[in-house]
Amino acid sequence: MQNPFQNAMAQLDKVAKIKNFGNGFIARLKTPDRNIKIEIPVKMDNGSVKTFEGYRVQYNNALGPYKGGIRYHPDTEINEVKALAFWMVLKCAVTGIPMGGSKGGITVDPKELSKGELERLSRGWVRGLSDILGSYKDVPAPDVNTTPEIMDWMADEFEKITGEKTRAVITGKPLDKGGSEGRNTSTAQGAFYAFEAFKKELNLPEKCKVAIQGFGNAGSYAAIIWRKAGHKVIAVSESKGGIYNPNGLNIPKLVEYKKKTGNIFGFPESKNIANSELLATKCDVLIPAAFENQITAENAGNVQTRAILEIANGPTTPEADEILLKRKIPVVPDILANSGGVIVSYFEWEQNLKNEHWSEKEVFKKLEKIIKNNAEEIMKKAHESKTSLRMGAFILALERIKAKMLIS
Ligand code: GLU
Repeated sequence: MQNPFQNAMAQLDKVAKIKNFGNGFIARLKTPDRNIKIEIPVKMDNGSVKTFEGYRVQYNNALGPYKGGIRYHPDTEINEVKALAFWMVLKCAVTGIPMGGSKGGITVDPKELSKGELERLSRGWVRGLSDILGSYKDVPAPDVNTTPEIMDWMADEFEKITGEKTRAVITGKPLDKGGSEGRNTSTAQGAFYAFEAFKKELNLPEKCKVAIQGFGNAGSYAAIIWRKAGHKVIAVSESKGGIYNPNGLNIPKLVEYKKKTGNIFGFPESKNIANSELLATKCDVLIPAAFENQITAENAGNVQTRAILEIANGPTTPEADEILLKRKIPVVPDILANSGGVIVSYFEWEQNLKNEHWSEKEVFKKLEKIIKNNAEEIMKKAHESKTSLRMGAFILALERIKAKMLIS
C-alpha cells in the first residue's frame, strides 16, 4: 500500500506549484509539531499483560487547540496517523473552525478484545497522553472503530487524572454524557450538504444514482440520508465486497438485514459484487467512505461516475487525481466533504464549555451554513486558479493557516 503521508505531502507540493505560499511555510508544514508513540500495557481477561502501540500526532495548532479522532485498526501505523493529522489541520482550516489538527490511533483489532479489555486499553491511551491532552490543548474524538462509549471511558479517565469536569477534552461522547445532538450522523449529514452545495457545479441530475464504498458509521448513514432525499443508492460495499441493484437498494431494510446477519451479502433483490466492481459502478456519484488509497492509478481509469464525493479521509491517491482530472471526473475533496464530524465535534466542545445543550435542528442549521459557505469559497479559489476542487480547498485552508503563522 502507498504511504498515506507521502500522498499528503505530494498534495502539498502540488498546491505550492499552483500558488506561491513561500518555501518556509511549506517546509514547516511538512513536519508535525509533535509525533508521539506510547506503549500501553493492558491486563487481559486471562490474567496476562499485553502491550499495545498507541500514537498521537499533534500536527499544527495555528488556528486553535489540536483536534482529531483516534483510530483502532490492525494496520494503523505512524505514517497513516501523520497523514490523517495533516488532513485534520486542513479540514479545520477549510471549514473556518478555530481548531488545529491532530490524530491518534492504536494498532489493534478491537474485534479481538473483550469489552473490559477494550475499556482498559482506551483508558491506558489517555493515561499515556494525559499531559498533552486538554480542552484548550488537544481534543480527541472518534474515528474508524472508535465509538461514543469509548469516548466516554476516555473522558472519564481524563477527569479522574486531572479533576477537570467540563468533558470538553473529548468529543463524540454519548448524548447523556455530554455529547452533542447530531454528532453520530454528522459526517454523513455534512457530506450531503456538500453534495447539495456542489450539485450545480458538478452538473449532476436532480435525482442521482449513488454508489457507496464502506458501510460503517459514515457510509451507512450516508446511504440512509441520500435515499431519504429521493436518490437511488444502487451499490454499497464493505471490506469483503458489496451488493448491487440498479433500481436502488432498500437501505432501511439493509440496515436491519446487516444487524441480523452480521453482513450485507445475500440481501434480497441484490447481486453480490467485488470491491473493484463497486468502484467501477456506472453511477452519478461515487462515495468512497472507507479508507485511504482506494482510488489509485490502477483503477482510476475504470471509474464510471460523473463525480466523486470523498467521505473517507484520503481515498484518492495523487496519481489517481491526475487521471480523474484528465477524464473530467470532479472530486469533492475529503477535507470539506467529510468535515461534518469535526464541525459538530467543535459544537460539542463549545456546548460543554458553556454548559449548554443545543437541539439537533440548531446543530444541523449551523452545520449546513458552514459547509455551504465554505463550498462557495472553495469553488471561487478553484476557478480563480483554474484548478481542481481539491487544490481550491487546499489554497483556502493554507491561506487561513498562513495568516496566523509568523513564517513566510
Ligand atoms: N475522525 C473524524 C475526522 O476524520 C472526526 C474528528 C473530530 O471530530 O475531531 O474528521
